[in-house]
Amino acid sequence: MKICTKCSVKKDATCFFLKASSPDGIAPWCKDCVKKSKKIYRENNKEKIAAYSRQWAKKNPEKINAIREKYKSKAIDSSSGKLTLFGQRQRAVKTSNKRTRMRKIRNEAGPEYAAQIIGLPLSKIPNEIISMKSEQLLTFRLARKIRRSLDESSKNT
Ligand SMILES: [Zn+2]
Repeated sequence: MKICTKCSVKKDATCFFLKASSPDGIAPWCKDCVKKSKKIYRENNKEKIAAYSRQWAKKNPEKINAIREKYKSKAIDSSSGKLTLFGQRQRAVKTSNKRTRMRKIRNEAGPEYAAQIIGLPLSKIPNEIISMKSEQLLTFRLARKIRRSLDESSKNT
């Protein structure tokens, strides 16, 4: 048994990850706390993580190719050339993700979305604040678009 230094709950050793550099060989935070903290980090650093992934992909084209090949061999039946069950399922997920993303982009920078980001009801926020936030969201969107096209053009040269 060990007490998690994050949530202060006494838990079984199996509820902790192993950590060689720790005196008892067990991580100070329990698995639940580690997972929660990682999730929060991912949610708050989406742009940073995406930029890192893009960079990694650029530096490791052969690994990306290997991943693609492996995915393809899993998704497409080599003898018939048709989608496997896995491939069909992945395609369905992809289509629905795309739809969600499109919906999000459409709503982005709209007053409701801006209010949601600010974290207050729309009726309680002055109009100029809403329009400032909308402009900021649009700026981010534009920056994302420019970054993507820069990535594309550097790929082609
Ligand atoms: Zn904990």
